[in-house]
Amino acid sequence: MPHSAPVDATLGALARQGYRPTPQRRAILAGMLGAGRMNVSAEEICRRARTLCPTVNLATTYRTLDLLARLGLVRRLAGGDGRSVFCAKPEPHYHGTCLRCGAVVDLPRGPVARILEQQQQALGDGAFTVVSHRIEFYGYCSRCGAAGLRSSGPRARALAPAP
Ligand SMILES: [Zn+2]
Ligand SMILES: [Zn+2]
Repeated sequence: MPHSAPVDATLGALARQGYRPTPQRRAILAGMLGAGRMNVSAEEICRRARTLCPTVNLATTYRTLDLLARLGLVRRLAGGDGRSVFCAKPEPHYHGTCLRCGAVVDLPRGPVARILEQQQQALGDGAFTVVSHRIEFYGYCSRCGAAGLRSSGPRARALAPAP
């Protein structure tokens, strides 16, 4: 089974809260992080985890993802097709949803984050204090990129937020 720093860090955080770092939990985390910048569904995480630890099943995967989400070690996101996808990356980043296939891809924060953090304070007035924000990006994943830019079909219109 591969060892990686982010997997070990999350398993360490679990252990500190009294949850044993079982091979199943390790495989599920490795499956999630192994998908790279793509945030994947429980079914896909299970499929990936089973190649590392054959005793993982969908019930174990759901249970583990619920636990990790409850402890704040994993984020549950809405995929473009309505299914939940999961993000295990600990460092702050944004997400982009593909208007064609619904994939949710990790995006770097860059200077956008700095500007937004400065500006969100300016939004606060006597009536409301802003402490955080959520921002979603829409576009096309690498699989859909070229095709998506040629024509954005009805799916794109359905997914894109109202201006
Ligand atoms: Zn993410
Ligand atoms: Zn796509």
